[in-house]
Amino acid sequence: ETVLELDGVTRTFGDERAVADFSLSVYEGELLTLLGPSGCGKTTTLRLLAGLIRPDSGTITVNGDLVAGNGQFINPDQRDVGLVFQDYALFPHLSVGENVAYGIDDWDSDAQDARVDELLDLVGLADYRGASPDDLSGGQQQRVALARSLAPEPDVLLLDEPFSNLDVSLRKQMREEVRRILKEAGVTALSVTHDQEEALSISDRVAVMSEGQIEQVGRPEVVFQQPESRFVAEFLGQAGFVSGRLDEHTIETGLGTLDTDMIQGLGPEYDGAEVDVLARPDDLRAIPTEETAGDGQIVEREYTGPSFVYTVELDSGDVVYCEHNHSDHLDLDRRVRVDLVADHRLAWF
Ligand code: ADP
Ligand code: MG
Repeated sequence: ETVLELDGVTRTFGDERAVADFSLSVYEGELLTLLGPSGCGKTTTLRLLAGLIRPDSGTITVNGDLVAGNGQFINPDQRDVGLVFQDYALFPHLSVGENVAYGIDDWDSDAQDARVDELLDLVGLADYRGASPDDLSGGQQQRVALARSLAPEPDVLLLDEPFSNLDVSLRKQMREEVRRILKEAGVTALSVTHDQEEALSISDRVAVMSEGQIEQVGRPEVVFQQPESRFVAEFLGQAGFVSGRLDEHTIETGLGTLDTDMIQGLGPEYDGAEVDVLARPDDLRAIPTEETAGDGQIVEREYTGPSFVYTVELDSGDVVYCEHNHSDHLDLDRRVRVDLVADHRLAWF
């Protein structure tokens, strides 16, 4: 069931289209992440949904009710939409418990009390009800902000770059924690980030955004493994490409002859087409060869900790990346053959 729906939404600032003919559906109980570079319109999308700004055109519905567009505009406090700000925006003069109760001050006091207890329990801060937000760590403050937004039982929770204020080491831990909290609360959530690893790791679905529009939306492993555009392929992780012309069932490339049945979605119906084949670093291995043999040479080496990533310039002029075990040392300028690993997944454009 669709809880949030944007249909053809456009919002301009001056002559800039921050959100351009944008359509997206978010389903009940899911965690969907909008992923895109800085300035692509993510925050604007959330502000439109929360009712902080109005669309120039298009419609927004929440639980089937029109909240913006077609001459209609429902105020933020009348929408069942909660917003968790990037900087948490906790009230420093209120206790943790008072912060959580902030959005439900019209409930009777027993119900308020019970709800605050329930939420502090959910976010693992039952012992901090009387504490001041200033005495909490960054991760704890984020939990309070989440609890405060969830208190009024919103149908939808919007989260703007929820991990950007946390140390790298805390980020990974809080990703799992936030996902657990959202799932236990059973809320429908739309999160926003520019961090592809974060989007892939926490989301039920990812919507990749560029210049105010959605490029692709799908499950994390689908947008990663079957990107529909070069932008998506490159934004989601290191991407090497080899080009060639399709000759019925094969393509001659800088990696040698590739069979079409190795490449997702490519068949003889595209005979004669010029295609770019995408290969991720974990699909390729560089094997040292004689000076006079091989497919190309190593031009760069990156150490990531668990692995080395070698950049190989192929004789065809294409550039690919090969990920190797950390103990697999290859020298720069070495001639190499580039092999596909057994369970490779190739896409094409
Ligand atoms: P993101 O959150 O993806 O980084 P934003 O939605 O904040 O992107 O911004 C999208 C574009 O709209 C940017 O170019 C930004 O400068 C512009 N923009 C956003 N809000 C305003 C505003 N209030 N006034 C003018 N320009 C704005
Ligand atoms: Mg933003």
